[in-house]
Amino acid sequence: MSICSRCSSEKVVYKREISGEKLCRSCFIESFEKRVRKTISKYNLFREDDRIAVAVSGGKDSLSLVKLLWKIERDFPEASLVAITIDEGIPGYRDESLKLAVDFCNRLGVEHHVYAFKELFKITIHEYMNIYNQAKKDFGPCTICGVLRRRALDIAAEKVGATVIATAHTLDDIIQTYLMNILRGDLPKGLIGVRSKEGPIPRVAPFRLTPESEVVLYAYISGIPFQETPCPYASYSQRDSIRRFLTEFEERHPGSLYAAISSLEELLMRQEKETAKKFCRVCLSPSTSDVCRACQILGEILRINFISPLSPTNK
Ligand code: SF4
Ligand code: ZN
Repeated sequence: MSICSRCSSEKVVYKREISGEKLCRSCFIESFEKRVRKTISKYNLFREDDRIAVAVSGGKDSLSLVKLLWKIERDFPEASLVAITIDEGIPGYRDESLKLAVDFCNRLGVEHHVYAFKELFKITIHEYMNIYNQAKKDFGPCTICGVLRRRALDIAAEKVGATVIATAHTLDDIIQTYLMNILRGDLPKGLIGVRSKEGPIPRVAPFRLTPESEVVLYAYISGIPFQETPCPYASYSQRDSIRRFLTEFEERHPGSLYAAISSLEELLMRQEKETAKKFCRVCLSPSTSDVCRACQILGEILRINFISPLSPTNK
């Protein structure tokens, strides 16, 4: 018979393949939250007086994150939490998740703001798709969506006076991003989701050491209502095929994602010490070229709309 490795309850909900540990509902929640708290302190993700802007899409990861940060933030009276949702303009998809985000933040009493691509960049992803389909542009919807969302979050965080942005990127997402960079011939420039001293408002990822599968389970058993419908443009995403490959690999060889993050990041930290950092002259993010790839793409999309590129000075 299967019993919880911590409290001997007979109601096991999860088996951690990497350690063989079996956990009941409450021991799983406790260990999940403890790991996130440990990640936060290991990488010094927050300061006691931070105004944290948490990016909330309405999916399981981001709603779990806002719930957890809401719990943690109560221990730090000088800190404050504000949720930001970016509306990319994808009819039938974003409307549902937007409602979930609004309702959930209301329930927790977390201040919540919505910023739309249309209002910030004069174009929605749905409108970009028409241009993409007609003109066969180089960049697919997910590339444009990712770059604009990132910039929109920076603008939004600045508007709400945030000192740090928290995103719900999981261990899986982080490895995927490192791999995507490598496959594009663009070596990662530093650690993702940790606080850096230079550059724009720092971005941190409290789930950076938590596997996606555990975040899904946490959302389910904590009763967090989240969007399950995928984005209609998900099939355009390069990330999707990398995600499928990594998920299958991890299932066959548990622990591979942890092994990948620790060896890769050890290398990146060594490299960071040895090389002088260069920054994009538009957005001030670390970049190997004068203008980073995101700003180049942004310049292209803004040209379509005949408006001048955004920079930290003319936001
Ligand atoms: Fe944007 Fe692509 Fe994600 Fe859809 S799947 S929300 S287009 S990045
Ligand atoms: Zn840039």
